[in-house]
Amino acid sequence: MKICSKCKEEKGVGEFHKAKTNKDELKGQCRQCYNKHYKQYRIALKKTIFDHYGFCACCEESNLYFLTIDHINNNGAEHKRSIGRPHQGGTGMYYWIIKNNFPSDLQSLCYNCNCAKHHSGLGFCPHELDKQSNSSVPQTPQPTKNSFHHPSMYPTSSSPIAYL
Ligand SMILES: [Zn+2]
Ligand SMILES: [Zn+2]
Ligand SMILES: [Zn+2]
Repeated sequence: MKICSKCKEEKGVGEFHKAKTNKDELKGQCRQCYNKHYKQYRIALKKTIFDHYGFCACCEESNLYFLTIDHINNNGAEHKRSIGRPHQGGTGMYYWIIKNNFPSDLQSLCYNCNCAKHHSGLGFCPHELDKQSNSSVPQTPQPTKNSFHHPSMYPTSSSPIAYL
C-alpha cells in the first residue's frame, strides 16, 4: 500500500503509475489524481493553442473539444515524422507548436472538417464546395475574426516547411 501525495488516500500499488526514477518505482500521485492533473494540463495546453489559431477555419466551430490542428499543406504525416515523435500525438504536437512560436502553416479545423478534408480526396473540406456554389452572387468580402486563417489565403501547392 502507498499513500497518494495528492488525495492522501492509501491505495494499492496497482493504483499508481510506474516511475523508474522514484525510489519505490511508483509515482507519488495515484492514477486517479495523476490522470486528473494530466487532463487539466492537456486542456490548458490546448486552450493556449486555439487562443492563437482561433475557430475552425472552415465552419467556425468554436468548441475546444471539436478542434484539432491541421496542416494547411496536407503534410501532417511528413511533419510528424520530421519532429520525430509520431507516437506522442496531441500533447507532444501542442508542445512543439508553442516551442516553435505557432507556425503559420497550421490552422485550426474541427474534427468534422479535418476528417472530411482528408477522406474526401479533395484536399479540402467539402464545405468549400457549398461555399463556392453559394458565391455565384457577387459578395463583398466580409472580414471575420477568422479570415486570416482561411485556407484560400494560402497557396494550394504543397511546399516544404520552411521553418524546419
Ligand atoms: Zn490520489
Ligand atoms: Zn469545421
Ligand atoms: Zn468544413
